[in-house]
Amino acid sequence: MAFESLADRLGSVFKKLRGKGKISEADLKEAMKEVKRALLEADVNFKVVKDFINGVSEKALGQNVLESLTPGQQVIKIVNDELCALMGKETAKLDFSRKITVIMMVGLQGAGKTTSSAKIGGFLKKQGKRPILVAADVYRPAAKKQLKVVGEQLGVPVFSIDESTDAVFIAKKALEHASQNANDVVIIDTAGRLHIDEELMEELKNIKSAVEPSEILLTVDAMTGQDAVNVAQSFNKQLDITGVVLTKLDGDTRGGAALSVKAVTGKPIKFAGMGEKLTDLEPFHPDRMASRILGMGDVLTLIDKAQQAFDERQAAELEKKIREQSFDLNDYLNQLGQIKKMGSMQDILSMMPGVNSKALSSAQIDEKKMGHIEAIIQAMTPAERQKPEIINSSRKQRIANGSGTTVQEVNLLLKQFVQMQKLMKQFSNPKKLKRGFGG
Ligand code: GDP
Repeated sequence: MAFESLADRLGSVFKKLRGKGKISEADLKEAMKEVKRALLEADVNFKVVKDFINGVSEKALGQNVLESLTPGQQVIKIVNDELCALMGKETAKLDFSRKITVIMMVGLQGAGKTTSSAKIGGFLKKQGKRPILVAADVYRPAAKKQLKVVGEQLGVPVFSIDESTDAVFIAKKALEHASQNANDVVIIDTAGRLHIDEELMEELKNIKSAVEPSEILLTVDAMTGQDAVNVAQSFNKQLDITGVVLTKLDGDTRGGAALSVKAVTGKPIKFAGMGEKLTDLEPFHPDRMASRILGMGDVLTLIDKAQQAFDERQAAELEKKIREQSFDLNDYLNQLGQIKKMGSMQDILSMMPGVNSKALSSAQIDEKKMGHIEAIIQAMTPAERQKPEIINSSRKQRIANGSGTTVQEVNLLLKQFVQMQKLMKQFSNPKKLKRGFGG
């Protein structure tokens, strides 16, 4: 899960701070030392860490937060704001100012460039664009084939010229093809190498000057930490990239690349790859990432996912229930199928405020357990489904017997439901969501 270990480390630092009515300068210093250690262990660039800690300390001392009534909360808020700033504050958008938006995808082999090209194509298609993918990796026939396969899965056409080994020629022809076929986005999947070399850069520069792309997006693998940042720096120097696609964030528990790329290269992360599926791509929202890192969950992404998975009528109904705080186990049962579409329960829970990795693993929510959950709810009476709080131990035993499960499983489900209801409360109270530091 993204940022898991960093979030856990910071979580324990802040827990200490929150518990204090008063924070001395020494407390703050000690906390900052621990934050520093956590960031360094997360493989965040050393200089970035140093500037970050200095910035936070200065602000905390300058704004007299130590004298305030809630010093712990205020320090966390400063850390949150600075984390957002580090990652670029605003969500970086693609430049669609031209009639045809040319997106040149670059990166080292294996970083996830082809997959990301396709994901972006699918993402933009959903937004009503008419993208085409261009197979401009002339060295690896497999790359072309891969692009065709994923393009087909997404219903995004793939342009290629089998008899040509000239990437610049292919790219130019693709542009002509796009204007003849009313395509408004051209995504060029260029060749990758294992390492940065002159020849590769030369080819990329030639493509760049031939097609004058609106965007040059560099794909880097989040799991490689500072290596990813170094790669970004090199590509940026040579090609003046417009942004980064950070892949495999789903497997990156540390977050070093996510936190350093913008600060080191000056170029924003525009998209995050969150899994192998072709829909596992998210626009990179610095504020939501900061929220995840601070263990405050990512409710907004959850809402986005819900909107994608639910149809509008269901979404409106659900929204009403959430607003009125009348979401009960019946709704839970009805929505289970829909919720499954949003991703695994682990994914969903991991975006909820206050759910740390320990809670996640102790909850042991996996897809197989879904069937049990359904059976348990089905074994409840209508009254129990509406008011789970009336379920006492004898009722639990009956429900367990009725559903062929155990009392522990019933307990677990009820606990999860309470967690979900807490989340719903935050949905229905956006002010609290904004402050949302819990505590
Ligand atoms: P390329 O050589 O840069 O074009 O890399 P590919 O697109 O072929 O991807 C390399 C591998 O990384 C493939 O197995 C992809 O499924 C995987 N991959 C790409 N993006 C992600 C991601 O965001 N998360 C995960 N878990 N795997 C990814």
